[in-house]
Amino acid sequence: MIQATYQQLIERISRLSGLELEEVQRRVEAKKAKLSGLISDEGAAQVVAAELGISFDKQKLKIIDLLIGMKKVHVVGKVIEIYPIKKYKRGEHEGEIASMLVADETSAIRVVLWDTNHIELIKNNTIQKEKVVEIKNADVRGTTTRELHLNSTSEIALSDAQIENVKVEIEKPKLTKLIDVKNGEQVSVRGTIVQVFQPAFFSVCPECNMKVSYENNKAVCIRHGIVIPNKRAILNMIIDDGTDNMRAIAFSENIAKLLNLSENELTNLENPSFFLNKKEELLGTEWFFSGRSRKNVLFNRNEFIINSLQEANPEDIIKELGQ
Ligand SMILES: [Zn+2]
Repeated sequence: MIQATYQQLIERISRLSGLELEEVQRRVEAKKAKLSGLISDEGAAQVVAAELGISFDKQKLKIIDLLIGMKKVHVVGKVIEIYPIKKYKRGEHEGEIASMLVADETSAIRVVLWDTNHIELIKNNTIQKEKVVEIKNADVRGTTTRELHLNSTSEIALSDAQIENVKVEIEKPKLTKLIDVKNGEQVSVRGTIVQVFQPAFFSVCPECNMKVSYENNKAVCIRHGIVIPNKRAILNMIIDDGTDNMRAIAFSENIAKLLNLSENELTNLENPSFFLNKKEELLGTEWFFSGRSRKNVLFNRNEFIINSLQEANPEDIIKELGQ
């Protein structure tokens, strides 16, 4: 999921396609009408972008345009700071992790290197402060602030590009109190998990992740026809930040993160005693949640749909990386 606001998306589509903003909006509305409102504004905008041949993945982006959830992005920036290389241990696996601050004329972002070949470029002083680097196939991660993560399929190399006036401010995480959360707004909140309900499973299209319906025992996606569906999990919980509490909804990848499981292990949650143990571990823990609230008209309540999350007091690498 790309954490772009609808406005950002249509502005970018307008810029990259050369179409007037109003024309892009008109096409998005037409797409929504055609799909009988079964798609969100953002979803419809993504479909319109795809139809115009715009792939955000292949564009070279300015750092300010990097949005949490984007994958395989391509950016050029100047190295402003290189942080000490850290060792980390995750289960059996030990490794090194390097990070640096990279900026262009629009913004700055922390860049995290996981691959030994990339880290070697820092150790042997190929990458130094003030050098300009070109980064390809990196993923934008984060919950309250953006980070650009490079894995072994990412590329980083020195660039001849000149960047004179860099903007080195990192955006500060903006946290919203639960009581101030307005429907439809993309926000980050910090909350404690005070109740967890039994997860449910449903079938989605492997292409677009939309719920499938069944016709004659065949799974059908409204966009992709007959498909072999993937199983997705949905977990309801109540989060509380002292100002209010709210029902929050997590899906597979975020449930896996919450419960420290792989996505393949999630079906174990159908076993009640396994679920109860996991629930005990989760209750009382505090997390940053990024997402947005929507009104569930069926139950007449507001729900917070989680896009990404991160434990608030993790004794993990993210804390170690603190500048
Ligand atoms: Zn589909």
